[in-house]
Amino acid sequence: MTGPDPQTIMQFLFALRSRGVTDARVLAAMEQVDRGRFVRGLFADRAYEDTPLPITCGQTISQPSVVGLMTQALQVRPRDTVLEVGTGSGYQAAILAKLARRVYTVERHKRLVRETGQLFRDLGLTNVTAMLSDGSFGLPEQAPFDRIIVTAAAEDPPGPLLAQLKIGGIMVLPVGQSDAVQTLIRVRRTEEGLDYDELLPVRFVPLLEGLGKDEV
Ligand code: SAH
Repeated sequence: MTGPDPQTIMQFLFALRSRGVTDARVLAAMEQVDRGRFVRGLFADRAYEDTPLPITCGQTISQPSVVGLMTQALQVRPRDTVLEVGTGSGYQAAILAKLARRVYTVERHKRLVRETGQLFRDLGLTNVTAMLSDGSFGLPEQAPFDRIIVTAAAEDPPGPLLAQLKIGGIMVLPVGQSDAVQTLIRVRRTEEGLDYDELLPVRFVPLLEGLGKDEV
């Protein structure tokens, strides 16, 4: 399978930089992960535009510049273990896999878990695992985490996720009403407690309870 041509990649990276994605490691990871592999069907030829696009199960692959800004805010280090809540297309997880030692990504739709698991294998990404679970509860069996990223919006940071963050750890997540514009926030766990930073307005699908009612 051929990737995008060099000019398309240049334009893709230019759009990221112009929206504030300046971290060299993040840009390199986003250059390596071909977004075209994570978008199928009708929208495949729009994969390199800086826009969210529909995927299966009524979900969306996030806007590349938002993926870049969230990844940058997460400050992932090479030896980190990262949890992502909301696998969706697997695009964000694949970028994290280029930056971290180990990535776990959880998703409530079985079909998305199956499809992204296959895609990670096809792409030779061996340090990322997609799992079926309600991510509001985190992933206690692999906790604690150096970094946690949530790509669906909750009204407040879920308590179990805060509890599964190491001291010195960082979590990035959108918070707010599901039908309104939400705020991307960064939470740092320190020896003393939790520090919160507001980053930018965003719009994500809601973090829902329980597993999806997939037929397959
Ligand atoms: N990170 C994705 C985009 C996420 S869209 C990407 O790179 O493509 C948000 C995803 O969160 C959806 O797939 C949705 O099914 C999932 N989701 C919503 N609530 C969830 C929950 N409680 N646990 C796990 N996944 C959830």
